[in-house]
Amino acid sequence: MRPETEELAEIRRAVRALCDDFPGEYWRAKDAAREYPGEFVDALTKAGFLAALIPSDFGGSGLSLDAACVIMEEIQASGCNGGAAHAQMYIMNTLLRYGSDAQKDEYLPKIASGELRLQAFGVSEPTSGTDTLSLKTRAVREGDEYVINGQKIWTSRAEHSDLMLLLARTTPKEKVEKKTEGLSMFLVDMQQVIGRGMEIKPIRTMMNHSSCEVFFDDMRIPASALVGEEGKGFRYILSGMNAERILIAAECIGDAKWFIDQARTYASDRNVFARPIGQNQGIQFPIARCYAQMRAAELMVHHAAQVYDEGGNPGEEANMAKLLASEVSWAAADMCVQTFGGFGFAEEYDVERKFREARLYTVAPISTNLILSYLAEHVLGLPRSY
Ligand SMILES: Cc1cc2nc3c(=O)[nH]c(=O)nc-3n(C[C@H](O)[C@H](O)[C@H](O)COP(=O)(O)OP(=O)(O)OC[C@H]3O[C@@H](n4cnc5c(N)ncnc54)[C@H](O)[C@@H]3O)c2cc1C
Repeated sequence: MRPETEELAEIRRAVRALCDDFPGEYWRAKDAAREYPGEFVDALTKAGFLAALIPSDFGGSGLSLDAACVIMEEIQASGCNGGAAHAQMYIMNTLLRYGSDAQKDEYLPKIASGELRLQAFGVSEPTSGTDTLSLKTRAVREGDEYVINGQKIWTSRAEHSDLMLLLARTTPKEKVEKKTEGLSMFLVDMQQVIGRGMEIKPIRTMMNHSSCEVFFDDMRIPASALVGEEGKGFRYILSGMNAERILIAAECIGDAKWFIDQARTYASDRNVFARPIGQNQGIQFPIARCYAQMRAAELMVHHAAQVYDEGGNPGEEANMAKLLASEVSWAAADMCVQTFGGFGFAEEYDVERKFREARLYTVAPISTNLILSYLAEHVLGLPRSY
């Protein structure tokens, strides 16, 4: 890989220094209590890292996606959990590209300063699952308002966010010409509607991810909350997905680096049969294999980010980056537990916590099957299966 620019190396050092203040004890306590790591998110915000993609005219640092990837990767490689804050980065694209000037003027400076958190992304629903075009949440225009009814699931960080990007159906499916039309995107000011049409119910999951169900019962929001044109929300989501996949892939690379580093250190220090376990090739080879796979996936992540930054459409690269990086982070997690043996299961080493956290990324925000399906049909031209 090309040597990193001084700017990226500096970002990496600064993120690492910030993360040093949030050691394993901090994450273990949050994990045990299933508590939102608010102090960590505030520190990232204060340091400007979560405003990386916000243009400088709006108070952000206007960095490239490649730089944002370095931030997310380094958070994970430090043993921290960027899942508490990553949505702010990856849903920013929708607001930047399709938000009105009024929405950008109103919200971006406040998001950049940390006054408001944009951390909730309401797409998934319990009955439609991966089939986003079948989602049922309805938004009906009434005068200068929209009235919203329905339900979202897995809306992560909903309890800790001020703003939510919400996808809802504005035209019934049977009335649209193209099946990708009729969905609209809204920027919901959650403080205005909580308890007044919106109810949030946390879901306890295998890791600390603050995921929730969100219920809408005649929730009224101003018509000015519509992002872009009515009916075009699915197109907006698709265009934001490349950035999302690349950023998540960067997190997976960070996780893989953390697991590889832990395994390497432990294998060198742990003595059994009067010699380091890392002297056995049965222990060395899985670590070396994960390292090689991680480096290959890392190349694809930065390549995808660079294509994005140059204004290209990295659909193929973003999907492959996410596929390869999520698979290697999970392989490295498994390898790390195996290397640690019994101690891999003890909470104090953080391996079991990171193992649980790393499991998510071959499922969400897009599952491996759906990526393979994209590659098969859209890149390789195989017949459509759905
Ligand atoms: C912890 C967590 C946090 C999340 N955060 C958010 C969030 O903030 N916002 C949000 O909107 N969503 C969020 N999600 C939802 C996530 O994006 C979905 O879980 C994911 O996209 C898979 O959808 P599903 O769970 O409905 O699975 P389903 O659609 O029910 O699919 C189940 C399995 O079947 C496979 N499958 C389905 N259809 C096909 C097909 N045609 N071909 C091959 N395989 C298929 C899938 O790949 C998957 O493996 C989160 C999920 C989790 C677990």
